[in-house]
Amino acid sequence: MQPTLILEDTIYTLDQLKLGSVPQVALAGRSNVGKSSLVNALAGRKKLARTSSTPGKTQSLNFYRVEPWGFYLVDLPGYGYARASKSDREQWAKLINTYLTGTPGLKALAVLLDCRIPPQKLDIDITAYAHSISLPLLPILTKADKCKQRERAEKQKEWATLLGGVRPIISSAESGLGLAAIWEALRRAALG
Ligand code: GDP
Repeated sequence: MQPTLILEDTIYTLDQLKLGSVPQVALAGRSNVGKSSLVNALAGRKKLARTSSTPGKTQSLNFYRVEPWGFYLVDLPGYGYARASKSDREQWAKLINTYLTGTPGLKALAVLLDCRIPPQKLDIDITAYAHSISLPLLPILTKADKCKQRERAEKQKEWATLLGGVRPIISSAESGLGLAAIWEALRRAALG
């Protein structure tokens, strides 16, 4: 059965942040990695999360309630957003760090990685950060429809080596590849 995603809260600033104990898994990725497309594909809806092509896309934390399982999927602002100012970037970093380090219900960080490009510094930084705060990682390779089978397997292996043996799930928002596996991994990470 396909779960339903309900957008329950959108927050922009530190003072709006509630550090809850409801089980939750956060979703992170470099800007343009395909995060909004994946959220929409997981939800089976076209426009639940706003994609990069949406004019005026705002950087926010979006709390989606997953029904009927009762945990949250928390869509974090994309990192490395090229046109952001330094002070904006610092504010988001503070917001994200506070959320990631201070939320009692946070069970794991799903990190989205583009299957077409080699591991990037920002990707490695966020995985190292998760490791440093003992937050389990759930790596996901995106845009698999753009990669040959062999390339996918190579990237999966390369990341598994970098992440101490954790193999990323291969996915495509376009074809639907890996979506069921992602739901299963999210549910397990959130609820055990
Ligand atoms: P975000 O910035 O991480 O939210 O990325 P978006 O979801 O907005 O996607 C960035 C671009 O990649 C858009 O042009 C999407 O259409 C495209 N994209 C996202 N996911 C996929 C996918 O699975 N396959 C393909 N071919 N393109 C994708």
